[in-house]
Amino acid sequence: MLVTTKDMLLDAQKGHYAVGAFNVENLEFVMAVLAAAEERHSPVIMQTTPGTVKYAGLDYFYGMVKAAAERTDIPVALHLDHGDGFDRCMQAIHTGYTSVMIDGSHVPFEQNMELTESVCKPAAAMGIPVEAELGKVGGKEDDGPDAGKENPFTDPDEAVEFVERTGCTSLAVGVGTAHGVYKGTPHIEQEILKEIRSKVSIPLVLHGTSGVPDDQVFTAIENGICKVNYATELRQAFTKGYMAYMAENPDCFDPKKPSKEGMAEIQKVVSSHMDNLGSSHKA
Ligand SMILES: [Zn+2]
Repeated sequence: MLVTTKDMLLDAQKGHYAVGAFNVENLEFVMAVLAAAEERHSPVIMQTTPGTVKYAGLDYFYGMVKAAAERTDIPVALHLDHGDGFDRCMQAIHTGYTSVMIDGSHVPFEQNMELTESVCKPAAAMGIPVEAELGKVGGKEDDGPDAGKENPFTDPDEAVEFVERTGCTSLAVGVGTAHGVYKGTPHIEQEILKEIRSKVSIPLVLHGTSGVPDDQVFTAIENGICKVNYATELRQAFTKGYMAYMAENPDCFDPKKPSKEGMAEIQKVVSSHMDNLGSSHKA
C-alpha cells in the first residue's frame, strides 16, 4: 500500500532501526526494490531525483510505484529526493508523491530556512512530510553542484533553530558521507551525529550511503539515523547483472533477459541493506 513517510520514519525512530530509501531509475528498479521489500517483509521508500524525473516525468514514476504499492500489503512510500525548488516539490505532491525533500543546502542558512519553510507550510496542509537538508553531503548529487571542500558538517545548534523555524519533519545531516563513488573509505562523524540527535527530535536522514561500510551505518542508526539513502549501489548492481548477461549472450536482443539479471542483482543489494538497517520483518 502507498503511504507517506511520516509514520514509517516515526516507527523506525521508536523501534531503533532505519528505513532504506532506494533511488529508482526505471520499471526494473521499481520491481526489484519491491521484490526485496516483500522478501524481507520490510517497509520501503522508493525515491527519484530531479534528474530521474526529467528523464521520464513525475507521472511515470508515480504510476509505476503506485502499481507496485497496490500489489502488496507492505508500506511503500514515494519520495522526491533532493527536490530542487518550491515548484518541483508542489508538482510532485500534486502528482501523488507521498513525501518530498526540499534541498536548500546549497544556499546560505537563512535562505535555506526560508525556502524550506515555504515548502513545509503547504505540504503540511496536504499531509505530506518534508525532508530538509542542513550542512552538506559531499560529492555530486544528480546534476547539482559539487560540494567540494566546504565544511560539510551540520552545526547542531543551527539544526535546532532550523527545525523549529521551518517545520520540516525529517532532516538530512552532513556527517561525513558523500554522493557517488568513494575514493577512500568513508568515515561517518558519529560524535557530531550524536550531538545533533541530543538536540533535535525529528528523524535524521543519511545521504550518500552507497559504499559506506555496514558497521558504520549500523552505528549511525544507533545514533539516531532513521532513513538511509542508497542510489549508486543500485545503479552499479543493475548494470553489472545486465552487462554480464550481454557479455555471455552477445546476440541477445530481448531487453527482458539481461534486465532480469540486473533486477536480481538489485534485489540482493537491497535485501542485504534491509537486514543491516534493521527494517526486515518490520512491515
Ligand atoms: Zn542525497
